[in-house]
This record gives sequence, C-alpha cells and structure tokens, in this order.
Amino acid sequence: MINAEFIDIAKKSFHGSDLKRITDALEFADMAHEGQLRKSGVPYLTHVIGTATKLIELGMDADTIVAGLLHDVPEDTTYTIDDVEKLFGPTVAKLVAGVTKLGKLKYRGMERYVENLRKMFVAMSEDIRVMIIKFADRLHNLSTLDALPADKQLRIARESMEIYAPLAHRLGMGEVKGELEDLAFPYVYPQEYAWIRNLVGERYEPLDKVVEEMQATVTTALTAAKVTIISMHGRRKHLYSLYEKLIRPEYNRDLSKIYDLVALRIVVGNVADCYTTLGVVHQLWRPVPNRFKDYIAQPKPNGYQSIHTCVFGPHGQPVEIQVRDYAMHQLAEYGVAAHWHYSEQGKPLAPAAVQEKVAWIKQLSEWRQEVGNDEAFLEALKIDALQKRIFCFTPTGDVIDLPEHATPIDFAYHVHTDLGAKCVGAKVNDKLVSLDTGLRSGDVIEILTDKNRKTPNRDWLQMAKTQTARGHIRKALRDLNDVGKP
Ligand code: MN
Repeated sequence: MINAEFIDIAKKSFHGSDLKRITDALEFADMAHEGQLRKSGVPYLTHVIGTATKLIELGMDADTIVAGLLHDVPEDTTYTIDDVEKLFGPTVAKLVAGVTKLGKLKYRGMERYVENLRKMFVAMSEDIRVMIIKFADRLHNLSTLDALPADKQLRIARESMEIYAPLAHRLGMGEVKGELEDLAFPYVYPQEYAWIRNLVGERYEPLDKVVEEMQATVTTALTAAKVTIISMHGRRKHLYSLYEKLIRPEYNRDLSKIYDLVALRIVVGNVADCYTTLGVVHQLWRPVPNRFKDYIAQPKPNGYQSIHTCVFGPHGQPVEIQVRDYAMHQLAEYGVAAHWHYSEQGKPLAPAAVQEKVAWIKQLSEWRQEVGNDEAFLEALKIDALQKRIFCFTPTGDVIDLPEHATPIDFAYHVHTDLGAKCVGAKVNDKLVSLDTGLRSGDVIEILTDKNRKTPNRDWLQMAKTQTARGHIRKALRDLNDVGKP
C-alpha cells in the first residue's frame, strides 16, 4: 500500500513527534479525500503523497511535509482551513492557505508574465515554503499530465515552463527547475523534444559506462590522497537545458560540441579538498585545453560555486568533471530549500537570514535580465522597495495593487468604476466583512453588487484610502446633487 511506503520514506528523515504529525496528516488526508479519484482513475491520495514525498526529497521540515499532505484539503474536500488549523496548528494552516490561494491564479500567457511573477512573489514574501510546496505539487501534476485533455496539458506545461521553472531558477533550485522543464518539454515543444530524444538516444549508455569506470579510478586515487568523498555520481544533463544549449548559434545543433552531456560530480568535505581533487583528476587524465573553470574563486552571478574541468577519459573521449564541497552542492541543487538543511556536521548550513538576503539580491539581479525591459524591472522592484503597497486578488486571479490600509471600497473602484458604484458588500477570503476592513497582501476579495444601485454612500469617502476611489465617489455624489437641483 502506498501509505505504508510513504511512512517508510518519512521515517528516514523524521522521528518522534514530527513523524507522528506526518502520519496523522496522512491519515487525515486519506479520510478527507476518501473515494476521490484522479483523472487517471487512481486514488486522489496518490497525488498528495507524491507531493509530500518530493518535499521530503527536497529536505523540507515537518510543517512543510504536513502541509504538502493537506494542500488540497480546503479546495477539494468538505474540510476547511479552520479544521486544518485546529488539528495541525497555525503554521500548517497558513502554508495550506497560501497554496490554495496560489492555485486560484490563472495563467494567461506571456503577456501577463510580469503580473504572474508578481503574484508569486506576494505569496512567497509571506513564506517561501508555500512556493516550494507549489513546486512539489506541480512536479507531481506534470508527471501525471497524460490523463488530461490536450488543451489542459498544454496550458499546465507552458505555465510550468514560463512561470514555475524561471522562479525555481531564481530561487536557486537548479534540480527542481530542470525537472519542471524536462516534464513540460514534450508537451510544449513535441517536435523538438522528439528530435533531441532521438539525437541523444544511443549516446548516454556508453557515456554512463565511461563515467562509472572513471568513478572507480578516482575513488581509489582520492582515498590514497586522504580526501574524504561525501558523494560522487554521474549526472546526465537535463534534456531541456541541453536543447537550449544546442540551439545557441555557437553550437548550431551539433551534439559533438557538447562536452557535458554526462558529467562526473564529486562532492568533498571542504574547499581545500576541492583543489586537491582537481590535482588528482588532472594527474589521472589529461585536461582538455581551455575547458577549466574555477567558479569557487569566481562564483557565477547567481551564486553557483564549483570547479569544472574537462579531461580526456580512459578511451580518449572528453568528459566533464565537477568538484564542489557539501554546502556548495546543497545550494546548487536545492537553492532556498537548503535553508532547512544541515551540514555534514549537523549544523545549519548558514544563518538563514544571510542566505535569504543572498537569494533575494540574486533574484532581483537575474530578474532584470529575464524581464528584459527597465520599466518591468522597476515595477517588480517596487514590491520590495515600496513595502507600503499591498497586492490583492480578484476571485478570478487578477492582481490589484493598492496602498497599505486600503479597504474593499478602494478595491472595487480599482477594478472598475462601475463595480464601485454598485458595491453593497464584500467578502475577503470567502468571509463577509464590513466595507471599512483594512485589506492585506494576498487577500482574495469578492465585491458583492446590486445591479440597481447607481450611487455610492457619502460615508464611503471616509472609508476610501485611494485618490482614485475618492475621486469617483465625489464625482458621483456631485452628479447626484446636480440631478436633485431644479
Ligand atoms: Mn495538488
């Protein structure tokens, strides 16, 4: 049974009260989703278990795993966020609420790219774990995309490639980015995918064998040199990133120009051992000229650190070798998720606050290149710089940008003048509220209207905080007075 399998996986990373909470959440999800099936016909629970398993793989904490198991409860079952909060506490409830909110956002193509990014950032700024759960959710959905109709497949795959993968990249989550792209690739570019699959088809197996052989040789040599090997493995280049490289003019779709189709990745204990390893490798095999890069001394702009070299392998073919220490490896593979990881010595990898800062600056600098034009970049920067703005959503997922302390009245007038005029009430996050309620970032606001109503109340002038809303209200009141005059 999948439940028992999942508990076995959880036991490898958790114990005591954490493990208990995870098994409780599994039981609760099982009960809440009872009888529900995925489009493919398998029990719904397979999806939440798939999501939670990925989160364990990413090294996330117990709250995140529990939230992963419960992430579809409010949306798809009769149980609510309040139930989740009562049973599993406020942190889990907040995470689940964040994921539910993100799920309501609809993708409308590249022209809304910046806007979508902005929504994601709102969600992330509250708790980055919401985004990580969303990645795990999306990865599982992509892996079961076959069961959906073609138009839905394409929408989900494109959204993953254009929004999720760049975000994962920005958060330094290289492995998640690669997986998202590879899963979406065949749906978004079916012909290109078929072409590249064909192209690399028979190349991998012999390369894997060579790398295996080199692995044995280098292990012996490093042991003799007293270097502690933390891990060593051959990694195949992600298919989509290979495709992106191949179509660049300098490669001109020529696979023989690609030297890192398979690379041997060696993770050692510290920086000094990285350079010792490099020396050992260059003594074993002749380096390919001009293929050596020291990203430890000179990290990539996104913070990536590693030594890359290329050597002529045992049968003369070029093979890439990457050397890094444990912390560099964690950051390269997991990015922000590494916040929740521990070093080999059991200490946190780095003070969380420091990493957060690095990640954020990194995001902004890369953003500039990706978003492309300065106006969009400045727009984006505002989120960070102008903390006094809030971002609220319409029930259909459009974002409305408002000043701090704005109310549903402001929201209504910012969506549409007419919506303001016809407003009779408001729901924030599905709860009825008074019209002078202060809104908060991430709130989903539904304006209740009366189509016969045409004029605002005078006291709305006090409730409205934006010039736009107050201007409209004043004008409507003036018009009303004019009509009343003889
Ligand atoms: Mn889901």
